[in-house]
Amino acid sequence: MHIILMGPPGAGKGTQATNLVKRYGILHISTGDMFREAVKEGTPLGKEAKSYMDAGKLVPDSVTIGIVRERLSKPDCRKGFILDGFPRTVEQADALGEILKDNGLQLTAVLNINVPTEDLIERAVGRRICKSCGHSFHVKFNPTKVEGVCDDCGGETYQRADDSADTMKSRLSVYESSTRPLIEYYRKAGVYKEIDGRQDIAKVEADLSAALGA
Ligand code: ADP
Ligand code: ADP
Ligand code: ZN
Repeated sequence: MHIILMGPPGAGKGTQATNLVKRYGILHISTGDMFREAVKEGTPLGKEAKSYMDAGKLVPDSVTIGIVRERLSKPDCRKGFILDGFPRTVEQADALGEILKDNGLQLTAVLNINVPTEDLIERAVGRRICKSCGHSFHVKFNPTKVEGVCDDCGGETYQRADDSADTMKSRLSVYESSTRPLIEYYRKAGVYKEIDGRQDIAKVEADLSAALGA
């Protein structure tokens, strides 16, 4: 199973990827998580990515494609994966096509979680992330049982620096210009399916599983 999970920032990709990974025993590959990890560790990649992330811009394609190519060539990817937050540009989608071909893999599905723009800022601003396991919560829509403490692992939760209303405006405009065109791109490829992301988390998960035929 090789899935792309698409959708604007705050649509619920990370939340649903976590669910699908548990259900199907496949890997969760999130370029956003990889960049945040690199920033935390202060690696050269992290130093380069940070300024783009803080500004709500995309990290350059050459850098992003490089880390995905490296990740997808590792043997554990043979058990299947969900790509969350990649590709985000047509150039990344073209490169992914080549990487999959080089590794003898085919896409199972491209699932797009559709959420109207007016809901996305509230979702992002209320998002809280676990420092240890990366699980996404929401102060209103998916709160932790104990404030500030991850339900899954007991880690401390925090608010991402780029989850401000201001940075979200830039991320949403980048989404419209660079990422939305991928809907047509994958529709033409015949693997595209759309899921209504305005529903509650459990219903979105059920629709995603149904779209995967399971
Ligand atoms: P969200 O969960 O809101 O969709 P992500 O965690 O996926 O955001 O990404 C956070 C930031 O990391 C992006 O705003 C961007 O700066 C960078 N990033 C993540 N994925 C990509 C990508 N495929 N191409 C370029 N930049 C990316
Ligand atoms: P993405 O990875 O697409 O940026 P997340 O999975 O991190 O999105 O979700 C963004 C925020 O919205 C999180 O705070 C999450 O708890 C919340 N959320 C996710 N799915 C839903 C939903 N179906 N309804 C309401 N809130 C949601
Ligand atoms: Zn946790």
